[in-house]
Amino acid sequence: MELDKTFDPKSAQERWFDKWVELGYFKADPTRAGKVFSIVIPPPNVTGQLHLGHALNVTLHDVIVRARRMQGYNTLWLPGTDHAGIATQNVVERELAKEGLNRHQLGREAFVERVWQWRETYGGRILNQLRRLGASCDWSRERFTLDPGLSRAVTEVFVRLHRDGLIYRDRRLINWCPRCETALSDLEVDHKQSDGRLYYVRYPFADGSGAIIVATTRPETMLGDTAVAVNAADPRYASMVGKMVRLPLLGREIPIIADQAVDREFGTGALKITPAHDPADFEIGRRHGLEQIAVMDEHARMNEQAGPYRGLTREECRKRVVADLEGEGLLEKIEPHPHAIGVCSRCETVVEPMLSPQWYVRIKPLADPAIAAVRDGRTRFHPQRWERTYFDWMENIHDWCISRQLWWGHRIPAYWCTSCENPEPIVAAAPPEKCPTCGGAMRQDEDVLDTWFSSALWPFSTLGWPDESADLKTYYPTSLLITGFDIIFFWVARMMMMGLRFMDDVPFRDVYITPLVRDQFGKKMTKSRGNVVDPLEIIERYGTDAVRFTLAQLAVQGRDLVLSDDRLAASRAFANKIWNAARFTMMNLEGAPQPLPPPAEIGRLRLAERWILDRLDSAISDVTRAIDGYEFNVASLRLYQFTWHEFCDWYIELAKEPLKSGGEAQAATRWVLVRCLDRLLRMLHPFMPFISEEIWQVIRPYIDDAELAPHLAIARFPEIGDKPLLSAAEQTAMAHCIEVTGAINSMRSLLGFHPGARGRALLKVVSGGDLNLAGWKTYAMTLGKLDELTILDEQAQPAGHFIFTQLAWGEAGIDAPAEFDFQKTWAALQKKLKEVVSHLERHVARMSSPDFQSKASPEARQETEDKVVELGAQKIRLEAQLNQLGQSA
Ligand SMILES: [Zn+2]
Ligand SMILES: [Zn+2]
Repeated sequence: MELDKTFDPKSAQERWFDKWVELGYFKADPTRAGKVFSIVIPPPNVTGQLHLGHALNVTLHDVIVRARRMQGYNTLWLPGTDHAGIATQNVVERELAKEGLNRHQLGREAFVERVWQWRETYGGRILNQLRRLGASCDWSRERFTLDPGLSRAVTEVFVRLHRDGLIYRDRRLINWCPRCETALSDLEVDHKQSDGRLYYVRYPFADGSGAIIVATTRPETMLGDTAVAVNAADPRYASMVGKMVRLPLLGREIPIIADQAVDREFGTGALKITPAHDPADFEIGRRHGLEQIAVMDEHARMNEQAGPYRGLTREECRKRVVADLEGEGLLEKIEPHPHAIGVCSRCETVVEPMLSPQWYVRIKPLADPAIAAVRDGRTRFHPQRWERTYFDWMENIHDWCISRQLWWGHRIPAYWCTSCENPEPIVAAAPPEKCPTCGGAMRQDEDVLDTWFSSALWPFSTLGWPDESADLKTYYPTSLLITGFDIIFFWVARMMMMGLRFMDDVPFRDVYITPLVRDQFGKKMTKSRGNVVDPLEIIERYGTDAVRFTLAQLAVQGRDLVLSDDRLAASRAFANKIWNAARFTMMNLEGAPQPLPPPAEIGRLRLAERWILDRLDSAISDVTRAIDGYEFNVASLRLYQFTWHEFCDWYIELAKEPLKSGGEAQAATRWVLVRCLDRLLRMLHPFMPFISEEIWQVIRPYIDDAELAPHLAIARFPEIGDKPLLSAAEQTAMAHCIEVTGAINSMRSLLGFHPGARGRALLKVVSGGDLNLAGWKTYAMTLGKLDELTILDEQAQPAGHFIFTQLAWGEAGIDAPAEFDFQKTWAALQKKLKEVVSHLERHVARMSSPDFQSKASPEARQETEDKVVELGAQKIRLEAQLNQLGQSA
């Protein structure tokens, strides 16, 4: 077998992914022995389109899952999708609208049928996109939140929570989206700044003795007022409490009441109270037993309670009410009053607080154990600071409104009698045949559950609960959850509560919160900015492996991830580097492919061979540790450094000579090359699965391993040997060799050596004693392309034009090439330095200007700071180079 000249990501991606799936490598077996590693995917919405957030999430999942599989764990990664109630219903409603239809014209059954059809056609799209990233999920266990099994779990949980008094029904003020025609939880309401107004309205006393002025931002709701409230401690109004006022426009008489919740500083200190349309008023109304008069219907149009305003929209009604108040001389004044208003997070319609009967989860008894589980470390957050966010929310949590007036979702298992007066519903897993009281027919509650209700059960409903399945026994609790910070409340917290309640254990041991992905200017990616990077497009351009490697490399815990083309190009170059190293190795293996026998005695290998095997061990232990700590960036950088610098730049160069020499040295070098490549590919596989498998298949016949796996996807992750390969003196010798060669090579580029040109180098030893040059001299001469490398006598004056670099123990110098033009290089460096300095000064000035400090966005500030750091480093480098030249002039 041969490797092509260049790597073709597209063909490798398709070939290998299908092969791995076909061979069942990703399939979990709950009966298998061994340590367990299990993970459930955060189910993307069926309406989802792959974005970079998914790509990052799936990459990190796959890195850890592939690593654990290779480490011999009994591994499960369970995939699936969420039915995404309101989101999916909206998508299908928009489709219907294009045909001039709405869901009511279709009717519930036909509409739900239509959504299922949509799901059949498009619901697999997002999972196919995850496959393109190489996701090694157990695809035979794919789940959907509306599957029969998962729906059964949802019903069971509802029934049990209701039985235990943790689900109840109440008529309260809820957030209502008049466009989606459903209740929304507080989390589903976004807050938007609006330039509202404050209207001052005169409410005349019923006895004609004067008036009280109230201030309100929503004059149209006054039609539902049932009181005016003042603060009991407010002397301005003390004498008025208990009096009746006449509600303007409608003429009803309502009382003035005193309540401690009234803010004396707001407006006039007197509030109109509309219990059916304002959450604060609702509470005050409950305390005082006030009537709740709803003046709008579910479309937010004024209803019959609004009298002459019936049929108007909220907005029209406000205009008419204000005009009428003005006409009657009851409008004191209008002031500008910017304030936040709630909008539906799905459709941006202004949310209307509405009085309506809904189902609630009594949350405190569920939240307390979930708080305790994180406090005592049964579940740990990474980075840990997210625990504070979790506690803050959990400690101030409100009961959860779980009913939605939608059609797409899990219908609530509550049944109402159609004939009894004012009946209580029956909550049961199976529909009751008839009413136990009157024998009448029963109908099921019309509402469905909040989509997050079923997602909250995901870690156990997907494993077969309520049955005690083998999957559930083996894979619960899961090992790790990887998700974004934006769904800590929606999802993470609720899984904790439900898992502890129904499984008596946390749903996951670790929670890794992924960084936020930003563009190359540090800006958040949004559609409106037009800076959204499509992962499928960059996969097309750079290959899946390069995209995955970039994302892993940039995933620094607790920091935003800044993606740029430069980074992607660097990862693609890295893939090419590995490819070329493999080609070099293959070209130096001879004869029929067969396992290369290991050298008789590792201890007798050259220093170079033992050194690279030592570096390999060090990389293995660093990468293993980093993966265990979810430090994906540390692991990938170490892989990069080992591959590029230690293996390619150093070892492959040092291997060239013995490869030509024949005999024992040649055989040993071949064995070391194959061994390094094999181990390297095993470590690299979780990050770059395709290129690693492609190469590994070609070198596989040469690998000496009694238990050699057929594919890298299920090969063993490497472990380190137990014997040290280098003595302390040899460690030091190689460190000197690397240091000197590094200095020589950077001088070569400064002095404009032709890549192939040979040079002469000198070492001046000032302190530190013996460099043991003899042990590494030939290596340094090979790596630095030198004809001569000697230690200079302190007194001697070397002939030639030597340029020196300071090192800890002395100096290394190289004789400049004949064509080296001191004046020209000096001038060029000076010019470059001047540019960098003026650039730097401009940025520093900008950064310290008071205007910038007060007005610039955090992203802009970060960008400028980064630039200053980078320019500062350039300046130091140029100055050092000039200094070097100056000293030797
Ligand atoms: Zn809406
Ligand atoms: Zn009945």
